[in-house]
Amino acid sequence: MLDILRRIVQDINATRNLGEALNVVVAEVKAALHTDVCSVYMTDHARGEHVLMASDGLRPGAVGKVRLKTGQGLTGLAASRAEPVNVENAPAHPAFRYIAATGEAPFHGFIGVPIIRRRKVLGVLVAQQREQRKYTADEESFLVTLAAQLAGCINQTEIRQALDRLDGDALSGTLFLEGVASARGLAIGEAVVVFPSAALERVPDKDIDDVDAEASRFRQAVAAELAELQRLSERMRLLLSAGDRALFDAYALLLSSDSLVNGTLERIYTGNWAPGALRATVLEYANIFTEMDDPYLRERAADILDLGQRLLNRLHEEQTVDRQYPDNAVLMGEEISVSQLLDVPPEKLKGLVSVRGTGASHVALLARGLGVPAVFGVSNLPPGRLNGREVVVDGYTVRVCIQPSPALRQEYLKLITEEAELSQGLQHLRDLPAETLDGHGLELHANSGLFADIAAARNSGVRGVGLYRSELHFFLRDRFPGEEEQTTLYTRVLRIMDPHPVVLRTLDIGGDKPLPYFPISEQNPYLGWRGIRISLDQPDLFKTQLRAMLRAGSNYANLSILLPMIGSVMELREALALLDSARAELEIEGLVVRMPRLGIMVEVPSAVYQIDALIRLVDFASIGSNDLTQYLLAVDRNNDRVAKLYDPLHPAVLAAIRQVVERVRAAGKPVSVCGEMAGDPAGALLLTAMGVDSLSMNLGSLLKIKWLIRSIRYEAAQALLDEVLILDSAAAIRDSANAFLDQHGLGGLLRIGK
Ligand code: PEP
Ligand code: MG
Repeated sequence: MLDILRRIVQDINATRNLGEALNVVVAEVKAALHTDVCSVYMTDHARGEHVLMASDGLRPGAVGKVRLKTGQGLTGLAASRAEPVNVENAPAHPAFRYIAATGEAPFHGFIGVPIIRRRKVLGVLVAQQREQRKYTADEESFLVTLAAQLAGCINQTEIRQALDRLDGDALSGTLFLEGVASARGLAIGEAVVVFPSAALERVPDKDIDDVDAEASRFRQAVAAELAELQRLSERMRLLLSAGDRALFDAYALLLSSDSLVNGTLERIYTGNWAPGALRATVLEYANIFTEMDDPYLRERAADILDLGQRLLNRLHEEQTVDRQYPDNAVLMGEEISVSQLLDVPPEKLKGLVSVRGTGASHVALLARGLGVPAVFGVSNLPPGRLNGREVVVDGYTVRVCIQPSPALRQEYLKLITEEAELSQGLQHLRDLPAETLDGHGLELHANSGLFADIAAARNSGVRGVGLYRSELHFFLRDRFPGEEEQTTLYTRVLRIMDPHPVVLRTLDIGGDKPLPYFPISEQNPYLGWRGIRISLDQPDLFKTQLRAMLRAGSNYANLSILLPMIGSVMELREALALLDSARAELEIEGLVVRMPRLGIMVEVPSAVYQIDALIRLVDFASIGSNDLTQYLLAVDRNNDRVAKLYDPLHPAVLAAIRQVVERVRAAGKPVSVCGEMAGDPAGALLLTAMGVDSLSMNLGSLLKIKWLIRSIRYEAAQALLDEVLILDSAAAIRDSANAFLDQHGLGGLLRIGK
């Protein structure tokens, strides 16, 4: 069954339009199940009908004509229940409906399986048998699996057709694609598609016009790789045995062999770009080796894949070197990495769109930091066909519009102007305190990490940096920055913000932030080697950073150091010991060290429960709601499949945060929140009500949150907090908080122009 399934899916993918794909499915399923009829009904939600779109076995004239009302007949039953209906004798079933036009009268055995995508029923896959027949459990699972594949394929085909129409007639309508998470804001720009350099298997196909140029680009990459292998082999002569060096020869042999190179060239000549052709060829050859009996030969599959990856990197390298970005670039891709984002000059970056990733990923945080709207989790995005097209990124409705019609474009331009006016209208708040109507004040600080955003923060009158993500600077390098370089950087940051406070966080790499030059490969990176764990295991790196921070802080009084991912008292003690030894070393070297204030991030659940013991050892706590949410709810902040479950307003997260705020304040120390929740209107409202001392957020949100705080009464916010804390879902809490904001005239914060 699995083989048949695989073949059908391959055949579907080879079709050019939906009609063809459905015809393939009905014919192949009919044959595979040895049944009399196989049909596909598609659901027309607007008209409330299931329409027969393809059939092998029913009268051909019935296709396109037979329409069942929603819920009608056994087909309708499968759709409305959203589960398979498997009936041995259909006419005896109460839901059975006789439909003359199909020539259906003599059929008895019936199975209908809904085709579902993202909880929405798209149609029903039906098989029928003249005699009575109960389809087996295996046959039912086969159809269910196929229906799931078909759902993706139907959607992809629809998108492909819409793009074909747009190519033929740019005014044929707009294509809308939905995501699951976003960074708020609106942008119109030109799609710039980027591909991951790290994953050969995920490289898409892409049509090209100039096959000769592409072939020569590939040949050059092969030649360069051959030369590199020879060089490596030479260099390793003194380090490796001849046996170990044989690997290089094996690679060179593979590169000289016809199969890999010619196979790729052949595919390029059919019009595919080099990376796509390479992927197809390499995977084909690797599969041949994987299926061999000889364990030695099976291992060679890994060599082929590795070599393919090297060639791919080479092809990409060559592209990125002279990558030119348009002035209004909307970066798009399967997955956008932090370094790809940082590669675009900030003034040219207008938006981000990706298949994977969520609003809590680090790319999303960076986007917000730069004030760039983004839509993530667009699972049906076809990056290969979008480069150069005009797109709208709507971070409010969480969707992307490909080639907006002139009217829609006009509408969006109007909204963008309104949004700019709202921000402009808030400028008068710049120098006013963040204080509620009844006199409760708190500090609002900016999150930063890039030089561009710290200067912007200072210029907008921000009174402190509550979180400086030091790792971002590390991403811009091709090696770890040394002590001098870091000292210069931190000094600059402290000087720019002086006398306002700056919280420098020590390196938080790992998780979704692996450094290109310090790769970490783990099954479960968020639960792995990350943040302070790396710093403690690599004291050389950690101490270099601490020394640089202390040296910078010796000339300025505004430094605080923040330790990420603290999960136990032991970790904190070890970090403090290293800080102490960095200080001692500097003093021996003659520096008069001014000890900064020291704080911990509370973002690992264990820290919530050990907060009393932890806070005793430091000066302040900063709650990282991004990680705390993912760890408390067991929801990967980068996984779009579970993005709907990720919400810092979940009652459990709010309870944890409230407990930390109370305990830290009871210890007489300040507590802040520096996760994204602080810049989210509903989140900021509830955190203010909890009595946090400060909120740190991306610069773009700061004046909006100040407006919010200045528009409400602290007492009313506290009453709201008491009310929502007894609610049992994030959705209910968000609704209440948003209703409160609306009542206070703050609806504009929630949705521009609605
Ligand atoms: C957090 O986890 O909330 C946080 C601020 O840190 P980061 O997003 O950099 O992990
Ligand atoms: Mg964090």
